[in-house]
Amino acid sequence: MVNIWMNGIMGVVVGDALGLPVQFAPREERDADPVTDMRGHGVFDMPAGSWSDDSSLTLAALDALNNYGYDPDRIMQNFVSWLKEGKYTPLGFSYDIGGACFDSITEYSRTHNWKTCGRTGENENGNGSLMRIMPFCLYCYCEQKAGRMTDTEAIELIREASAFTHAHERSRIACVLYYFIVRSVLDGKMSSNKCLQRGLDDGFRLYAENGGDMDELAYFNRLRDLSLFKDVPRDEISGSGYVLHSLEAAVWCLLNTNNYADAVLLAVNLGLDTDTTAAITGGLAGLIYGEISIPKRWRDQILKKEMIEEMCHMAASKYNY
Ligand SMILES: [Mg+2]
Repeated sequence: MVNIWMNGIMGVVVGDALGLPVQFAPREERDADPVTDMRGHGVFDMPAGSWSDDSSLTLAALDALNNYGYDPDRIMQNFVSWLKEGKYTPLGFSYDIGGACFDSITEYSRTHNWKTCGRTGENENGNGSLMRIMPFCLYCYCEQKAGRMTDTEAIELIREASAFTHAHERSRIACVLYYFIVRSVLDGKMSSNKCLQRGLDDGFRLYAENGGDMDELAYFNRLRDLSLFKDVPRDEISGSGYVLHSLEAAVWCLLNTNNYADAVLLAVNLGLDTDTTAAITGGLAGLIYGEISIPKRWRDQILKKEMIEEMCHMAASKYNY
């Protein structure tokens, strides 16, 4: 049986690990020296196969879902364990910590109020919630397939899950659109590019029908027609850490490739926030092509691979639909 948890989560982790060593470096540096394989060291001087905050927060959320179902306090407690104790990390310490994540998780550890700890500023729309939204998407997918969750409830859960750290509506919308892409890709039955378009059509329509913020939704308008967006030149796709740029980059990389490796390497070689752009791309690519399509030498280099696989197996057995 296909394990959608393994496909999505390993897709995130391998993308993160491929991008991590070259994070922050500009595109010109990647054009001169493109990443083609797993590298070690680089900016955080971590061994090859190391993954960062993107994967750590993804695994922290997954572990909470496995043990307690969807419980915001348990999720936040796991985020605190990551930040303060280095849980869910390759080598036992947290690193590559984004500003909004640090501020919101620190505030939660003080107030224990997950409803108010997320950052709300317009300039706090980094990709830090989108990078860890995959387990929530898979959870909602399973709940919807089992007939236990409506579209409206799924949108609210994804918006809430973003808001633990990133509560501005733009970040929440990015996560909602990502969820509907995940759902469409998993439903399949058509080419992957058509699945991406169907997922975005669903996302734009259902977000609007559920009383969404149309001014904020308009920021995402380039993603409405993928037949046009596919041919946007690379110069107009950014690898920055801004959530809108990251979602656009992920979709663009998927539209213009036809396998996992090419999709995540295209994402990494956009430069700048390479680990996160590749993690967001890689999660979807893992769902489209399957974990088995991720080059084995990359999977085998992932630190604590067995721990990640065990968590994915546990999720599959708990949330089978
Ligand atoms: Mg990172």
